Amino acid sequence: MQDEPEVAVLRLGHRPGRDERTTTHVGLTARALGADRVVLEDVASGREETVVDITDRFGGPFDVEVTDSPLGTVRGWDGRVVHLTMYGLPVQDVEGEIREAHHDEPLLVVVGAEKVPFEVYERADWNVGVTSQPHSEIAALAVFLDRLFDGRELDREWADADQVVVPQESGKRVEDAREHRRES
Ligand code: SAM
Repeated sequence: MQDEPEVAVLRLGHRPGRDERTTTHVGLTARALGADRVVLEDVASGREETVVDITDRFGGPFDVEVTDSPLGTVRGWDGRVVHLTMYGLPVQDVEGEIREAHHDEPLLVVVGAEKVPFEVYERADWNVGVTSQPHSEIAALAVFLDRLFDGRELDREWADADQVVVPQESGKRVEDAREHRRES
């Protein structure tokens, strides 16, 4: 969120032919729910294009980074690290201390794809479970970010958008952003 220490989401791993949509949705979820940046592995090449396109269309700021060394991102992170895993501590038990720490320090939020190296569990400041049930990196990321920002991410403003979705009770309405600004 703007004017706060950075929140970056690292998508660790990507299984070509299996994780295309999931990796893309990790990026879209990170963007929509308050993170400042997503870091994708280069093996997920092409996934970043969708996230960049959506940012161009519906606004930012949001950065998409591609790395050939995701573990290097963890090792070199100058801040606190949260690793989302079903084996971790309940998010509701640790969200307060994480939010407190994030007041002053950037946060790296790690989600896996295939098996996550144990080094990530060891390097994380918090291993956090969104329940202790196996489900999805997308759901875990969404719940964690909403808890981290305490719902503030739902009201964020978007800069440099080409288009704006106008909420409707029923139906769909998308407006040219310049027109929308003139009308409001
Ligand atoms: N099979 C892989 C393993 O054992 O490490 C994990 C597969 S899981 C579908 C992919 C990612 O989703 C995990 O690395 C974790 O980041 C996230 N995830 C799944 N369930 C979760 C939960 N209950 N709490 C937090 N994160 C979860």
